[in-house]
Amino acid sequence: MRSALPAALGGSPAFASQLPLSRPSIPTDLDLLEAFRRVVESGFITKGSQLASFESELSDYLEIEHVVAVSSCTSGLMLLLRCLDLRGDVVLPSFTFMASGHVVRWNGLRPVFADIDPETFNMSPEDTAAAVGDSCAAIMAVHIFGTPCASDDLAAVADRCGVPLIVDAAPAFGAQYPDGTKVGTKGLAEVFSLSPTKSLTAGEGGLITTADGGLAKLLRDAREYGNPGDFNSTIIGMNARMPELSATLGLHSLRRFPEWLGCRQELAARYRANLIGIDGIGVQEIPAGASSTFKDLCITVRTEKYGLSRGELASALALEGVASRAYFDPPVHQQSAYREVGSLRRLPHTDAVSDVVLTLPLYTQMAPSDVDRVCEAVHRIGTFAEEIRASRSIDQPD
Ligand SMILES: *Cc1c(COP(=O)(O)O)cnc(C)c1O
Repeated sequence: MRSALPAALGGSPAFASQLPLSRPSIPTDLDLLEAFRRVVESGFITKGSQLASFESELSDYLEIEHVVAVSSCTSGLMLLLRCLDLRGDVVLPSFTFMASGHVVRWNGLRPVFADIDPETFNMSPEDTAAAVGDSCAAIMAVHIFGTPCASDDLAAVADRCGVPLIVDAAPAFGAQYPDGTKVGTKGLAEVFSLSPTKSLTAGEGGLITTADGGLAKLLRDAREYGNPGDFNSTIIGMNARMPELSATLGLHSLRRFPEWLGCRQELAARYRANLIGIDGIGVQEIPAGASSTFKDLCITVRTEKYGLSRGELASALALEGVASRAYFDPPVHQQSAYREVGSLRRLPHTDAVSDVVLTLPLYTQMAPSDVDRVCEAVHRIGTFAEEIRASRSIDQPD
């Protein structure tokens, strides 16, 4: 079927107006506006009842004892590492969002990068064990693109080394581990993000989940400058509070969340079923029994088979009106801010995977027919790969 030409060869674009990469899932009902009005009229716009209700509903939903809401996942991880009072190295993946590395360095700790599994793109327990040295103070795993990492195996490595396992669970609110428990329940603590592109959003925000009551108490002080109430600070904290209006949005979003997550997972399944048949296109492997939030719908592009590189596909998709992003490229250890830190370890899978990944549009309100049209565009572009290369109609970035 080589009838319709791709836009790169003068065909009409798959989308007349640009299909965005992501859109936030937010309730637009009058109930929410009414709740906002009540908060504003009450005069309690921080540290009020909305935050308390949100934390308690989250703790029921996630089936975890303590949920400490904060201003972002980044501030949550910064405070968590601070509360653990660590010295030395933190072993973490480099194939992740930059904030995972930044929180380590904000605490004066040294990031040591472990490689990923080339199929799940999550931290490899074997390479993590190899990366742990004498000065290792903690292991920080990440649920890449909302797909649960091998937390049990990583916890075993951490146990053997006598260090805590903490998890940057930013994109994974609502995901499930292979054993059926919800993400948020493993390691010493997990930290979610509620920023606009994540599965659950409160505008901005973060959630630290833990079964450790002492740690939860310390975190509650730490998010308020380290002030336990008597103005005799016990820890170098900061202002990382979640405002009441955010908590209100979070509470209302949480009520709709199971429905929204279901939509997103169906759209992701549709994408994956369509894409799997295209030569040279691959998808992230989801561990058997686990479920992902698919915060990012990530594909891999193998130039030898597809005919075009990841960068060429991205340019051809842009002409079709489809936004995409090479995510995560560069990986953290190759970023400018890490020039002095870099990585002393070889990370062959991280380097190889970051060269071929591409994120496609996915959001709750996306029409299933739009998913099909994106997949058709990927297929059509691949079919015409040689002609597109020969025509020099797109830039060839990498
Ligand atoms: C989004 C994200 C963050 C940052 O979350 P904020 O709430 O914006 O601070 C950190 N780590 C990962 C893996 C993320 O995807």
